[in-house]
Amino acid sequence: MEAGLDSVIGFNVGGIEVDRNQFAAVFDRARAAGLHSVPHAGETHGPDRIWSAIHRLGAERIGHGIRCLDDPTLVEYLRDTQLPLDVCPTSNWRTGAVPRGRPHPLPELLDAGLVVTLNSDDPPMFGTDLTNEYRVAYGLGLTPADLADLARNGVRASFLAQEEKLALIAEIDEVSVQRRDGKKYNDKHDGQRQRAEYRDTIGERPGSDPADSEKYASDDKEQHRPHW
Ligand SMILES: [Zn+2]
Repeated sequence: MEAGLDSVIGFNVGGIEVDRNQFAAVFDRARAAGLHSVPHAGETHGPDRIWSAIHRLGAERIGHGIRCLDDPTLVEYLRDTQLPLDVCPTSNWRTGAVPRGRPHPLPELLDAGLVVTLNSDDPPMFGTDLTNEYRVAYGLGLTPADLADLARNGVRASFLAQEEKLALIAEIDEVSVQRRDGKKYNDKHDGQRQRAEYRDTIGERPGSDPADSEKYASDDKEQHRPHW
């Protein structure tokens, strides 16, 4: 922190999900130094970790946060405050946070009206990248409009300057209106209803099985390499 690295903009805690409260003092220092608070919480442990990330660590975004679904009051809080959850499906399957063979709760989080961004977590560790995560999200029943919303959320939840955000969102808007299966999707959609309709019409999709995520990550590694 004292080094004053210009390229460091946020502060996180990940790994084994121990009690978040013990990190309060170091997060205080990081925030006082101008870093954004973006702790992992509610990945392998329950809602109490998310509450403490909010109340004790001043979280501006929550890494993972999928276990919020265990606590309706927390879901309501996250919806009301629009606090973003940085969701990483492949990582969750790999770590067992979501058991293999079980669908990822990403659609449930969206149905609950939460602000979700899509993320790769640690690409080399989990053998995925952001493109693959979009493919996985599609396999979970998300519509093209949902995918565009996830991309917009990623921009909105970022710490970019407002004009940079607007430029990126305009770019996403430009490419997100497209015809699929004879239907036009755009950003004004009733997500939950459309997801249900879309699931019914499109049937089996690539990525709908967690094992596919692994397959894509190894088959298309070069093609889908992230460019950061
Ligand atoms: Zn992680």
